[in-house]
Amino acid sequence: MSSLSRTCPEFLIVGGGVIGLSIAYELAGRGHQVLVVEKGALGQEASWAGAGLLPPANEKEAWDPQEQLRGLSHRLFPEWSARLKAETQIDNQFEVSGGLYLARDPGEAASLRMACVHYEEEGVEVQRLNPQQLAERFPHLQTGQPIRDAVYLPGEAVVRNPRHLQALVQGCRNRGVEFIENTQITRWRFQAEQLASVEINGQVVSPAVCCLATGAWSQLLTDQVLDHGNFSGRMQRPEIEPIRGQLVLLDAGQRFFTSPINEGVRYIVPRQDGLVLVGATVEEAGFDKSTTPEAIEDLTQFARQWVPRLADAKQVKAWSGLRPASVDRIPYLGQLPGMANVYLAAGHYRSGLHLSPATATVMSQLMCGETPQIDLHPFRVNRA
Ligand SMILES: Cc1cc2nc3c(=O)[nH]c(=O)nc-3n(C[C@H](O)[C@H](O)[C@H](O)COP(=O)(O)OP(=O)(O)OC[C@H]3O[C@@H](n4cnc5c(N)ncnc54)[C@H](O)[C@@H]3O)c2cc1C
Repeated sequence: MSSLSRTCPEFLIVGGGVIGLSIAYELAGRGHQVLVVEKGALGQEASWAGAGLLPPANEKEAWDPQEQLRGLSHRLFPEWSARLKAETQIDNQFEVSGGLYLARDPGEAASLRMACVHYEEEGVEVQRLNPQQLAERFPHLQTGQPIRDAVYLPGEAVVRNPRHLQALVQGCRNRGVEFIENTQITRWRFQAEQLASVEINGQVVSPAVCCLATGAWSQLLTDQVLDHGNFSGRMQRPEIEPIRGQLVLLDAGQRFFTSPINEGVRYIVPRQDGLVLVGATVEEAGFDKSTTPEAIEDLTQFARQWVPRLADAKQVKAWSGLRPASVDRIPYLGQLPGMANVYLAAGHYRSGLHLSPATATVMSQLMCGETPQIDLHPFRVNRA
């Protein structure tokens, strides 16, 4: 059992997914002492399982705080990727790949049109493609099926999330962040609406500030903390549930297309080395992370329908991850009610990778006593 070098860190981050690691990286970059406690291995849950799609956004035109968060993240992602690469020599394979969106049924077409209106209002470039343009620009695509709508978003980007996590872990280490893995907090001690100390591996640790970044498991912790604090039962508690997403990885041998293909909630994402990720289901299955043969077969067939050249691609592996979903699908970013030095950053649902640099920026500002550059009211923890 490893012992801690510091028992009074300025910041204790609970949870080592992309959200916790990004916050730790940002805080350490500001010169703070940070300790991260992770119940398993760092970066192996939803953040590892996800696809790494980063849809376009425009910070300059965004007026709504949610869009501002996306816009800020979209600007920061290339900057963070370049900085992490320079600091760690780990390439997270961030690239502006463009993204193709297709709709076959009327429901999908209506959702796609609404999304496009939204993008255009924010000054995000949207290219509507007619069948001839689609066939010319995407020759690998099976266009012989009835397609109601086809849209290309040139500003969409992708990141290879497992590599991004490796880079974040190394970047944190370089900045002096201390990690403790395979460990959970066994005791929380509160004093006058403050977290006074916690017990980790039998050691008492007294952080000045604690941030819960525990993804789909967050409600288990917030309930525990709020039960201790001066929390009025009339206030709304944060609610986060796990939503399972299954994916399958195919090996196409070499890369023959570069833009991810999206239809509804499913997508086909070409990696740089010829691997192709196909996802994802959206299921309520509690904390069960198993995969089902039906879902994997369905995803494989989906990919082969759109990209016939994948017919011979071998299945490399299949897995699932648990998206942390708040009831309104908006992340919680803020202080826990009745608890002066405990914060929550969780519930990013399908966009946690995308939103991670902006989340780290605004949470660090908030926890350092500054006014966050984005109004965090819509993300408050006790919203109804
Ligand atoms: C199939 C799938 C596809 C996705 N695709 C995309 C995508 O294309 N783009 C995108 O932006 N997002 C995507 N997402 C969403 C994204 O992955 C999540 O929103 C994001 O990873 C959430 O990050 P997190 O750090 O909050 O959670 P996690 O990565 O789950 O990290 C939480 C960590 O907290 C730890 N923890 C939990 N409880 C405790 C405890 N008591 N003590 C210590 N540690 C604890 C866990 O072990 C875990 O390591 C996808 C998700 C899935 C599942």
